[in-house]
Amino acid sequence: MKNILYLLFFITITTASAQDTAAIHRHFVLADTHNDALSNQIITGANLAKRQAEGNFDLVRAKEGGLDVQVFSIWCGPQYGHGSAYAFANREIDSLYALIYRNPDKIQMVYTAHDLAAAVMRKKMAALVGVEGGHMIEDRLDYIDSLAKRGMRYLTLTWNNSTPWATSAKEERFKADSLPHLGLTDFGKQVVRRLNSLGVMVDVSHVGEHTFYDVLATTTKPVIASHSCAYALCPHQRNLKDDQLKALAKNNGVVFVNFYSGFLDSTFYSKENPFLAAHKTELDSLSKVYHSDDLGIFKLFAIHKTETDQFRPPLSLLIKHIDYMVKLIGAEHVGIGSDFDGAESYPLGMDSVADYPKITAELIKLHYSNKDIQNIMGGNFIRVLRANVGK
Ligand SMILES: [Zn+2]
Repeated sequence: MKNILYLLFFITITTASAQDTAAIHRHFVLADTHNDALSNQIITGANLAKRQAEGNFDLVRAKEGGLDVQVFSIWCGPQYGHGSAYAFANREIDSLYALIYRNPDKIQMVYTAHDLAAAVMRKKMAALVGVEGGHMIEDRLDYIDSLAKRGMRYLTLTWNNSTPWATSAKEERFKADSLPHLGLTDFGKQVVRRLNSLGVMVDVSHVGEHTFYDVLATTTKPVIASHSCAYALCPHQRNLKDDQLKALAKNNGVVFVNFYSGFLDSTFYSKENPFLAAHKTELDSLSKVYHSDDLGIFKLFAIHKTETDQFRPPLSLLIKHIDYMVKLIGAEHVGIGSDFDGAESYPLGMDSVADYPKITAELIKLHYSNKDIQNIMGGNFIRVLRANVGK
């Protein structure tokens, strides 16, 4: 199987097909490390095996976009605490297993790079679980073990809310003075070590800088930022500063670029805020109808598409973030973590998982080598997964 891995990820594309974007796109393994489709699906009940009129992900469009590997985000908000967050996470994982059981010819759960290669060979989507928010372990190491057994291959140590043992980017920026500590506590370091020992990747997207550097001082394995962009281009606390990106590369880790307009474009909120203010009543009722603030805003953006399209950034800005990070830390440390179905706005042209070939086309235009494109689009994820899982 090692040979198959080699063939899959480092297959040489002939010069004759080098200009053919579709051929290049088809040849490599495309991996996306962050997608919130499940979080929405457990509310809407959408059948993700069928083409959906709304949202960014389903298995039909994934096929069209050449998506081979998807890490599904398992997420619940901070209103879920002890006694409910872990249960909610399991419910969401159940929904992924249900999708897989119903569509065994299309999608398969994978736990290792070896499994992943086997799924891709069978032309099935390789599905992995990423748990987004340390609050879902409810301060228990044994819950990490259980989630790992159910397929968790990364744990995002915090979401926007800090945990008692790790501080988030949002809270480090906006309420640092009232936090009882900054960074990882001793228990937080135990969490990192437990993840390392189980082959679960540590995800530093969403964590604050204090936590970020504490993680790098603790981990024995390469870490990931599953869905973050370059702070130098868009100074949002969810993005990584140049020094963080360099430190991540030194750890042999990978940053997976997020497609969300708010993390790509520093002018996005100045355009979005007046729009939201003008449609506040409508947004409030949509959020009530869908029992979700997220689905409410997604729906509002869809209803007013002509208006909201006006302040979507160009695709070139997403490419600029990729190119910036590649120039800073190298193509072997950058990947794709779209955050599809987790945000209200993406660059023009990036409407769904069917649109990944547009990124390949842009990287070809920038004269990226085939090897670099393969690494960015999936090879780096497979490397960092193997480095953590060990096979
Ligand atoms: Zn997120």
